[in-house]
Amino acid sequence: MSQRLQLEPLHPVSRPRSGLYVHVPFCARKCDYCAFYSHEPDSATLGRYVDALILETDRIERDFQPDTIFFGGGTPSLLPPKSWERIGKVFSDRGWTSATEWTVECNPATLSRDKARVLKEIGVNRISMGVQSMDEDLLERLGRIHTRSSVFQSYDLLRSSGFERINLDLMFAIPGQTMERWKSTIDEIIQLQPEHFACYEVIYEEDTPLFQQLQAGEVDEVEEEVAAEMYEIWLEAMDQGGWIQYEIANFARDRDGVRRAPESGVPEGACRHNIHYWMGSEYHALGPSACGFVNGVRTRNISNTEVYCRTVLDAGGSPIDGEDVLPPLSRAGEIAAFGLRMNTGWNFDVYRQRTGFDFEMLWKEEMERLEAGRLGVRGTNTFRLTRRGMRFADAIGERFLVDQALSR
Ligand code: SF4
Repeated sequence: MSQRLQLEPLHPVSRPRSGLYVHVPFCARKCDYCAFYSHEPDSATLGRYVDALILETDRIERDFQPDTIFFGGGTPSLLPPKSWERIGKVFSDRGWTSATEWTVECNPATLSRDKARVLKEIGVNRISMGVQSMDEDLLERLGRIHTRSSVFQSYDLLRSSGFERINLDLMFAIPGQTMERWKSTIDEIIQLQPEHFACYEVIYEEDTPLFQQLQAGEVDEVEEEVAAEMYEIWLEAMDQGGWIQYEIANFARDRDGVRRAPESGVPEGACRHNIHYWMGSEYHALGPSACGFVNGVRTRNISNTEVYCRTVLDAGGSPIDGEDVLPPLSRAGEIAAFGLRMNTGWNFDVYRQRTGFDFEMLWKEEMERLEAGRLGVRGTNTFRLTRRGMRFADAIGERFLVDQALSR
């Protein structure tokens, strides 16, 4: 990093219209690999959660208008239609339903025609469905509650309910997954022709049953070379099908199916909400364990549904139990690293608006090193990683992270 002594932004930082994240902490059953905060619901807790969520919206300034809304979890599709109607009414009263994009994460086993209808009616226009695999045995191994047939049923249900933007999540290198099984999942899932895919290698998070099974030698990790080949096969399938890798794990298409160069921007089917995260936008957060970033302050809500509900409903208090103010330079480093995960990389003007710093001044040496290694490409006013560079984006990102102690 050059210009290490430039600790404060040289330019004003803009606050673009951004995102709202809502965490729904309920899952019908905990998956074996999952480290997110979620638990099984009972109807009383579920009702109190919706009450608390609605009350928590009052804590957001009245003039906030989200560009995107994302209900994640947990399993948001576990909420019954009545709860969605209540949420929709409050969001509509706040003017939030005019958001460009409103995504709800769904488990294929928890959708019904009635629920899909209500989601559509209240303004949800994008569904993200956790498929993970089309192999019955592997779904069981992961502890998923859905079956392969429920994937087809729910997908058809969503299309016939009018959803034009669907993401399907997949995983590879699942213990027990052979190359043949992976190829067969790819063949089947591509037939569905969604607008968007997210595809991740299984992660063994500590404190999950899958991690413990691995430690106990009960499951065999897929070898690194096999996992790398699975990823290659996936990239080829995306290329052939016309889905563009616009971020390391995310793939989308333009409506007309024409492939365009990274310089022309992300494809139409891309998830705008996640782009806000990667491009350093602000976002408000609601619900237990939800994290927000507003006005330079990162917040985290209480990670316990019962305590969250008690705090918001009974005590009328704030559910925030942690705040972190990042020094501007650290934040600029974090934003640089996140933005490089996208195939479009950074436009220097946008980076300046978001951080107040000059990308070229701060990261001159890193850019030169990456270009020399054919991992990065510099344009007139841009810098992005090459396709090869994107494979190492996590490691490359580390070089842009600034030690907080140095940046204060
Ligand atoms: S459905 Fe999603 S959030 Fe719930 S346990 Fe499984 S992976 Fe975790």
